[in-house]
Amino acid sequence: MTHNKFGLGRKIPSEVEREVRRKSGFGCVVCGEIFCDYHHIEPYEDAKFHDPDKIILLCKLHHGEVTGSLNGRKMSDDTLSKYILSPYGLRKGNNVWRNLTSIEAIKLGNFLFLETEIALRIDGLDVLSFSFSDEEFPIVGVNALFFNSEGREILKIKDNVVMGVTDVWDFREEGNTIQVNSASHKIDLRIIFHNNGLLEIERLRLSYLNGTVEIGADGALISKYRDKVYALTQEARIRGGQVGIEIANGVMRLGKGERTQYFKGASNIAKNSQPSRLSHEDSAVLPNISQNQSPQTPPTDNWSEFSYNGTIAGQRISIQRMRHSHGSTAIETDGRSIRIGVSNGSPMSMRIEKMSINSIKKSASDKTEG
Ligand SMILES: [Zn+2]
Repeated sequence: MTHNKFGLGRKIPSEVEREVRRKSGFGCVVCGEIFCDYHHIEPYEDAKFHDPDKIILLCKLHHGEVTGSLNGRKMSDDTLSKYILSPYGLRKGNNVWRNLTSIEAIKLGNFLFLETEIALRIDGLDVLSFSFSDEEFPIVGVNALFFNSEGREILKIKDNVVMGVTDVWDFREEGNTIQVNSASHKIDLRIIFHNNGLLEIERLRLSYLNGTVEIGADGALISKYRDKVYALTQEARIRGGQVGIEIANGVMRLGKGERTQYFKGASNIAKNSQPSRLSHEDSAVLPNISQNQSPQTPPTDNWSEFSYNGTIAGQRISIQRMRHSHGSTAIETDGRSIRIGVSNGSPMSMRIEKMSINSIKKSASDKTEG
């Protein structure tokens, strides 16, 4: 049946749905669970229109209790009314999801991180990270702290428990996706929990003290900090290491590794090979540099692996399978120059299968006329 006796369709208009979510505290009115059903307090068959005052959010468990379909247990109307008057999310200030399990990889826009402890760090704050058990490699849980475009905290994950702030314009779940908006077309966060253990941050508009980090519809990550602007477009893949993307005082570093306990036997490998440093002006063109600096092939778990194909600080960069030892950074840039393979002071070695750097020349039509 697509319509009831009053000709009312099943589909709740999206603006009514948002009003229902807001009134329910963006989660189950009883327990705050993020992933919910829409439940009509007034039976749908008797409804003349979709009234947001007569629809609430309930998780699977409590939906079962309210309808009496759960082992014969039925919640009384009085009890339900108390929850509707004071929904969990509005009472506590947050909703919650406790069933996140086995995240093994993180995707941040076009960046894929495998076995990287911290995917994104901004001015010393770990925005997105894994916690590991001390002895071996197994992942204990994923942690995150997301701010919106106004610098307000909107969602955090602590050891796989997801908590969303309920004082937002909209907080919507759909399938395996959570999306937080600060206005109709302003997506602050879109996060997808894939079945294969991949956690994907598909969209982000994050503000912090002096800057912003954005992931747009094309997956490009744009960092802005005063006059420093970095665009990480297209694809990158980072395996191992401590920090995937680090932004400190607006300067971006990629693929930093220093937590030696995750790289067994790391002290045996470094052989004093000099890091390669590349720095050039915007007008310079360095086509197809190939390097092979490794004196030996160390065990793979002593290395961070980095591949990149995109744009940083106005340079088109392509790096295929760069492997660098712990304590070093794959790429560092200050907005004008780019350094590939930066040591933190201790000996390092690295190996790059193929690399090219090309300036993006501004075409004549880009120049302002005067
Ligand atoms: Zn519930």
